[in-house]
Amino acid sequence: MPIASIDPATGQTLKVFDSLSDKQLEEKLQRANETFRNYQRTSFAERAPLMLRAAEILEEEKNDFARLMTTEMGKPIRAAVQEVEKCVWVCRYYAENAGKHLADEIIETNATKSYVHFQPLGVVLAVMPWNFPFWQVFRFAAPALMVGNVGLLKHASNVPQCALAIEAIFRRAGFPEGAFQTLLMGSDLVQRVLEDTRVAAATLTGSEPAGRSVAGIAGKQIKKTVLELGGSDPFIVMPSADLGEAVATAVKARTINNGQSCIAAKRFIVHTQIYDEFEKRFVESMKALRVGDPMNEATDIGPLATEQILKDLEEQVKVSVAAGAKLLTGGQTWKADDQLARGNFYEPTVLADIPKAAPAYRDEIFGPVASLFRVHNIDDAIDLANATPFGLGAAAWTNDVAERDRLIDELEAGCVFINGMVASDPRLPFGGVKHSGYGRELGEFGIREFVNIKTVWIKAQQSKEAGSVE
Ligand code: NAP
Repeated sequence: MPIASIDPATGQTLKVFDSLSDKQLEEKLQRANETFRNYQRTSFAERAPLMLRAAEILEEEKNDFARLMTTEMGKPIRAAVQEVEKCVWVCRYYAENAGKHLADEIIETNATKSYVHFQPLGVVLAVMPWNFPFWQVFRFAAPALMVGNVGLLKHASNVPQCALAIEAIFRRAGFPEGAFQTLLMGSDLVQRVLEDTRVAAATLTGSEPAGRSVAGIAGKQIKKTVLELGGSDPFIVMPSADLGEAVATAVKARTINNGQSCIAAKRFIVHTQIYDEFEKRFVESMKALRVGDPMNEATDIGPLATEQILKDLEEQVKVSVAAGAKLLTGGQTWKADDQLARGNFYEPTVLADIPKAAPAYRDEIFGPVASLFRVHNIDDAIDLANATPFGLGAAAWTNDVAERDRLIDELEAGCVFINGMVASDPRLPFGGVKHSGYGRELGEFGIREFVNIKTVWIKAQQSKEAGSVE
C-alpha cells in the first residue's frame, strides 16, 4: 500500500510519501532511545505543562486538523471537529491525573516499608488505524508521554499527513524531539522495529490479522503488547425500552464515522414484541440520512476511507443477499455526478432475516450497513449477542432491572452500555475480550499498561541507616 493522501470523496491523489530509508529509520530509533534516557527522569510536574500546551495547540487549530482528517479519510467535518475536541480532553485528563494514577501504593507487609512504584518502560511502538486518525493516536500518546515513555507512531498508510501533524503538535508543545516520532513506513517494516532491542513494547489498534501478526512477533521477543482489534457489537432492544430513543441512538451508533468504527453497533437484536415497529422506524431514519460531501456541515455520511473498503463492503452485502438476507433499503454504491463522482460512497443499508452463513451474520461490517435480528426472549438475545468471535462493546436497551443485571453479567464484551451508545471516555477503561484484543486504554487502567510495576521492599536497620524510612 503506498503511503499517500488520497481524498476518498473525489479519488484525487493529494500527496505521496516515500517510506523511510534504512538510515532514517535507524536515526529515529536511536533518537527515541537516547531521548528516553533523560525523559524518563522528568517529573509529572515537568511533563504536565507540555501536555497542556499540546491540548492548547489542538484547540487553537482544531478546524485545520479536522479538515485534514476529513480530506484524508472522509469523516464528516462535524465529527472531525468533535474528534479533535476529544483529543484536547484526553491530553488535559492525563496532564491532571497521571501523577495520581501512578502514585506509589503502600502495602503493609513484614517490611519496614513496602510499596508499589510505577516506572516507564521505554520506547513504545504504536501501530494505528486511519478511522479515528487523531483520537486513536492521542489516546495512546497522552498517557504514554505522561508516564515518561517515548512513542514511535506507525500510522495507517492512508493518513500520513495526520501522522506528521501529530508529531509536530508534540514537538511544538515542547516535548523533546525524540519523545514522539512518526515513522512513515509500510506495515512490512513493523517486524524490524518490533525486533529492535531499543523498542520495549507495542500497542496496535486495527484488524485481527494485524493484531495476530504484531502479537506473534512481540511474543517471540517477550515484549508486552496491547491489542485493540475489531468488533461486531450487538445493540439489544427489549420491550421496556424507550423505542424512540433507542431507534435514534441505533442509527447514530451504526453510522458514526460513516460506519467505520470498531465500536459501531453492527448487529441490532430486537425483541419480537417491538421488532416490527423498530424495523419500520429504523429503516425510515436510515433512508433519511444525507450522503455526500464530508466537508459539508449538513452531511451525515461521507465516503468510505478507501476504494478497497468500498469493494469489501459491496461484496459482503452482495454475498449476504445471495445467501438469503432481505435488503430493506440501500445495497449499492451512492453515485454523484459532480466532482464526487469518483468518491467511495455507499448507501445507508439495512439487512434483515440474515442466515447464519451470511457475512452480515458473523463478520465485522465496516460501513453504513446494519443487520437486524428478531429474538423472542432475553436468553436468545444474549446467545445471539455472544455468537461472534469478537467482544469489544455491547449496548442494551431495557428498563427491566432483572434483564439489565443479566445483560451486564452475561454479555461477552469489554464494556456494556445500558440505554446508551458505546463510546470511549478518557476516564473509563476501554478495550475488548475474545478476538477484540486484550489490555486496556484510557483511565487509570490504560496508563498502567506500559509501566514497570516495581515492588519495593525496605527493611530499616536502625544502627546502620543514616536517613529514615517514613
Ligand atoms: P489494519 O489493516 O489492521 O491497519 C491498522 C494498522 O496496522 C495500520 O497502521 C496498518 O498499516 C497496520 N498493519 C496492517 N497489517 C499489519 C501487519 N500484518 N503487521 C503490522 N502492521 C500491520 O486495520 P484498518 O483496516 O486500518 O482498521 C480497521 C480495523 O481496525 C477494524 O477491524 C476495526 O474494528 C479496528 N479498530 C479497532 C479499534 C479498537 O479500539 N478496538 C479502533 C479502531 C479500529 P498499513 O496502513 O500500512 O497497512
